[in-house]
Amino acid sequence: MRLVSYWAGAGLEAGFEDGGRVLSARSVSPRTDVPITVRALLQEGVDLREMMSVADTLLKDDDLLAGRLGEIRLGPPVPDPDKVICLGQNYADHVAEMANTRPDVPNLFTKFRNCLIGTGDAIRLPRSSRQVDYEGELAVVIGRTCRQVSEREALGHVAGYTVINDVSARDLQLRTSQYTVGKAADTFGPMGPGIVPAFAIPDPQVLQLATYLNGEQMQSGNTSAMLFSVAEAISFISEVITLEPGDILATGTPAGVGYKRVPPRFLQPGDLIEVEVERVGRLSNPVIQG
Ligand code: MG
Repeated sequence: MRLVSYWAGAGLEAGFEDGGRVLSARSVSPRTDVPITVRALLQEGVDLREMMSVADTLLKDDDLLAGRLGEIRLGPPVPDPDKVICLGQNYADHVAEMANTRPDVPNLFTKFRNCLIGTGDAIRLPRSSRQVDYEGELAVVIGRTCRQVSEREALGHVAGYTVINDVSARDLQLRTSQYTVGKAADTFGPMGPGIVPAFAIPDPQVLQLATYLNGEQMQSGNTSAMLFSVAEAISFISEVITLEPGDILATGTPAGVGYKRVPPRFLQPGDLIEVEVERVGRLSNPVIQG
């Protein structure tokens, strides 16, 4: 079961999805009759295991459903995070293909809310780039405020995991020493389909990851190969940046990006780019000219 954000009217609200069936989080937590967001749920410190246990029963009742996937459109699992922090060069094979040197400490950059779209939403190619690339990654969703947490404590602050595509305009990214303009363009952070709770994934360092372009596998890796683990990264970041519920951490991509294929393969209008992380889900996005 996943914690999801889905479109209800003009806004996104929190729900639970299992087997394509979607239940409003309001059905599980009836003390509120106004829509509640995933971020607000996490800020409240709800017990996801308890909520999902109740949701599991309610999801079986057709009359209680908000709808089914297909008729319901998902948004990014957390559409309004305070922070989206990304790890660059966190897999040795990707460091090698980019001809970079292995970082001594986590290499951080950021995206913003304007980047975030859900599964099924279109990545828009900006007219100022000819080199838009994909990067399939595991994403971490913070569940509890963490400041100066140790590696040992770090995973206890994670709400769950989702999939992110760290879409990157290589020509814009590599034109200066700062990544931001190439990494933080509108729609450059597809995320989803939903959040698999941390209790269902006790070890995030054993997950197979793959990226498919129009059905053809372009990337394949395992989170065991990360240079800095999820726990190390959270501990490192939290030393100086307080992480809040709903904050997103993208954990880096393995080798196989389009920029370093021979010949290079950049995203084109009409493409379908998909990222799958074992036990977390498959994120699927069409590509259009922006
Ligand atoms: Mg990346």
